[in-house]
Amino acid sequence: MIIDGKKTAAKLREDLKKKITSLKSAYNSVPGLTVILIGEDPASKIYVKNKEKFSKEVGVNSEVIRYPQNVEEKVVLDKIKELNNNKKVSGILVQLPLPKHINKKQVIETILPDKDVDGFHPVNVGNLSSGHDSNIPCTPLGCLLLLKEIEKNLTGKHAVVIGRSNLNGKPMTQLLLKENCTVTVTHSKTKDLKSECNRADIIIAAAGIPKLVKGDWIKKGAIVIDVGINKTKSGLVGDVDFEQVSKVAKAITPVPGGVGPMTIACLLNNTVECFKRSNS
Ligand code: NAD
Repeated sequence: MIIDGKKTAAKLREDLKKKITSLKSAYNSVPGLTVILIGEDPASKIYVKNKEKFSKEVGVNSEVIRYPQNVEEKVVLDKIKELNNNKKVSGILVQLPLPKHINKKQVIETILPDKDVDGFHPVNVGNLSSGHDSNIPCTPLGCLLLLKEIEKNLTGKHAVVIGRSNLNGKPMTQLLLKENCTVTVTHSKTKDLKSECNRADIIIAAAGIPKLVKGDWIKKGAIVIDVGINKTKSGLVGDVDFEQVSKVAKAITPVPGGVGPMTIACLLNNTVECFKRSNS
């Protein structure tokens, strides 16, 4: 089965649109998302454009604040503090990567945890790993929702996460633990990735290496979620060799059209959750 991320994301946005309509009549206001974009990185510009487009579609009030590449760090931090105090702003996102002269940690920690829609603030990271409510990083949340499309109850499943980044691998691991999976976290120093994968009921591939995961790494009937987005001469490919793996796996996400569309839908979901919490 090919897991259709576009369809699931469209359904999530449709649900959010309905939620926002009823929130509007209850509170006479709508969730607001402010994105800070620094510099001219082409990929970042595309991501931000899509965030604006889908915000509009569901009824989130979106605003993009743009700064040149050489903007002073203090200007950005002061703007975040101002947004923290602005009641109309439910969520704040600073588009990564940042220019080298800007301290990413400082920027993330300046965002109020309640408005940190990316779930990168240490308070949210800590809450997630303690099993408490928190803002959850959008891509891992999207992966979990796709998994749940296939298997409602993940209790007891053996999941192998490939990659241990703060953005993907680590929060994905915490989410799977919360679902009662047994989780093996693998990374660039893992000795025998193939045999780790061979034991997995679920594989989440987030290494950033084109077609890393091969067909003979997969246990028959496993579910494979491919987070990777790699530009190659033959176009965009994931971290999974789709042609080989799709013959063995029970279900697999394609690239593009799998995890990617879920990320923005989950960002909008997080913005709505922040709005609800601030009004409750
Ligand atoms: P990263 O570079 O921060 O981390 C990669 C991780 O993979 C590291 O922990 C590293 O130890 C591990 N790794 C590297 N080589 C490995 C190997 N041979 N075996 C096992 N592990 C290995 O990357 P990231 O930011 O987590 O992104 C990973 C991929 O996901 C990239 O392709 C990125 O473009 C993509 N991505 C997709 C989305 C989406 O919306 N679908 C969002 C974010 C990132």
